[in-house]
Amino acid sequence: MRLQVTVMKLHNFNSGPSILPQPVLEEASNAIHNFNNTGLSILEIGHRTSHFQEVLNNAIASVKRLMQLDDQYEVLFLHGGATTQFMQVPMNLLDDHKTAAYCDNGIWGSKAIKEASLFGDVVVAASSADKNYSYIPKDLQFPENASYLHITTNNTVEGTQWHQYPTTDVPLIGDMSSDIFSREIDFKKFSLIYAGAQKNMGAAGVNMLVIKKDILGKIQRRIPTIMNYQKHIEAGSLMNTPPVFAVYVSMLTLKWIEDEGGLIEMGKRSTERATLLYNTLDSLPLFKTNIAKEDRSEMNAVFFIEDENLQNLFLEECKQAGFIGVKGYRTVGGVRVSMYNALPLSSVAAMTDLMQSFAAKHS
Ligand SMILES: *Cc1c(COP(=O)(O)O)cnc(C)c1O
Repeated sequence: MRLQVTVMKLHNFNSGPSILPQPVLEEASNAIHNFNNTGLSILEIGHRTSHFQEVLNNAIASVKRLMQLDDQYEVLFLHGGATTQFMQVPMNLLDDHKTAAYCDNGIWGSKAIKEASLFGDVVVAASSADKNYSYIPKDLQFPENASYLHITTNNTVEGTQWHQYPTTDVPLIGDMSSDIFSREIDFKKFSLIYAGAQKNMGAAGVNMLVIKKDILGKIQRRIPTIMNYQKHIEAGSLMNTPPVFAVYVSMLTLKWIEDEGGLIEMGKRSTERATLLYNTLDSLPLFKTNIAKEDRSEMNAVFFIEDENLQNLFLEECKQAGFIGVKGYRTVGGVRVSMYNALPLSSVAAMTDLMQSFAAKHS
């Protein structure tokens, strides 16, 4: 007798590492066995071979096309996750006794501030800590001679997102880890962009960086080679062994984004998902959110049910329905629904159906 196994359809709302497009997973799993008909696994090829050079070149070319960058910009793929950039940015760009401006609008931004203060003076240009990071501060104040201004474009944990970037004469730096390539924006407003890949562009283990070259070489500090942006540019992201597989998955995801219609299409899908989720949220008084309406994130919707028992019951029903990763961040609590590029609208519809029926039963 054959055993009948029914696999429940899962809906992956993970905040990161998170859902990737199915074709990317299929191609990556084929490449584990036989990469591009080389007879070798992608895990077995040398990073200085033409095979990997092509992967890297393709990834960089995709980034440049998607962001419409000119030759003033360099694209790097480095180790370390976004957290390394909290240190590497000031190490490369902020001299002793100089000032950098930071927006304190979430847990990740505040970690970036902490690291930067090891290298120079930090001025908080604006903070939303007074209201639990539930909005994006609009009125920024910082010295004109600041070395740069740093923002977190999407606050993964709190569920806010910058929908209009500050205009400034100092170099603008963005931690775009959780909304990179989710919509069309004017990337040229930024002098440096960094993103850990595992939320919206690939597998954990690699950081993508976009650097406008004219911001480099302005400080006196001696920088360890492996931390030095200029040296990485000179080495073409191959100073040492890069995270080959993670770069490969990013390359596949970037190609998928382009094949699907690029950032205009990603933005359209993102708005569709978020509109469905937030419209449902607003129509059901049982579910509440503290996030300022104009600052809501299209990537991470954060909300809660006041009655803790009911909230636990809701989370339990989510689990039974095959909804993965909807429990809020450990310090925030509540519910968090992450809706990255690869999440189909049908998954959001499954979530809003459950929200409707749960509210009908318990209101
Ligand atoms: C997840 C995240 C980080 C941390 O990324 P790691 O790759 O784990 O270091 C930093 N910033 C933002 C906005 C994030 O969402």
